[in-house]
Amino acid sequence: MNALRTRMQMIFQDPYSSINPRHTVASIIGEPLKIHKKVQNNFEYEERVRQLMNTVGLAERLYDAYPHELDGGRRQRIGIARALALDPEFIVCDEPVSALDVSIQAQILNLLMDLQEKLGLTYLFITHDLSVVKHISDDIVIMYMGQIVERGPTEELFKKPIHPYGQALLSAIPIPKLNSKRERIILKSEVSSPINPKPGCRFAPRCAYAQAECSVADPELLEVSPGRFAACRLAEQFV
Ligand code: SF4
Repeated sequence: MNALRTRMQMIFQDPYSSINPRHTVASIIGEPLKIHKKVQNNFEYEERVRQLMNTVGLAERLYDAYPHELDGGRRQRIGIARALALDPEFIVCDEPVSALDVSIQAQILNLLMDLQEKLGLTYLFITHDLSVVKHISDDIVIMYMGQIVERGPTEELFKKPIHPYGQALLSAIPIPKLNSKRERIILKSEVSSPINPKPGCRFAPRCAYAQAECSVADPELLEVSPGRFAACRLAEQFV
């Protein structure tokens, strides 16, 4: 369990609440090193913290600064440095840019992509922002009411979503072109409660293609073309 924890780390959504405001930059980044006994003495500790600060683009003069002295982008860099402290292989990025100004979002995304290449990291990147998804991911998983409804390589999925929910979701992306022909799919009704969901496809009450059988059994997530998976009874018609 301990080994798994050090190989897998997390970057949290809100850099304002996910770091302790009473601790300095150095102590936030260095805490995992102490807990997991990754350094032998103060010299090693300080050297490793400074190295992590450099890796994420935090100036060394901020070593003893407190989070309230920094902007959102720098605070998120602290969260990233802390996640890197134990040399993970896999990082769960939980909406890591959604709480940041748009101008800072691109900087943090580019930093994450650079680190991925440099350190050979794998990310599970959770976001509602479709332009971020397109920019950063190689493979996409679309979820609806807690279930995976579609999975596939980013480029193919953006070109032709298979699941009716994926189709509606991607049709909502604005196209910066006059006279664009793509039509937005407007879903009917609201998302139903995920508590005690009814049997059958959870998307059925909103799906334009729903049939009586859709409400009988949960559609399985099946491979409908190489590398493309969808949980829809009619998936083959949409490939
Ligand atoms: S299984 Fe039926 S209700 Fe569900 S997405 Fe497919 S067509 Fe729509």
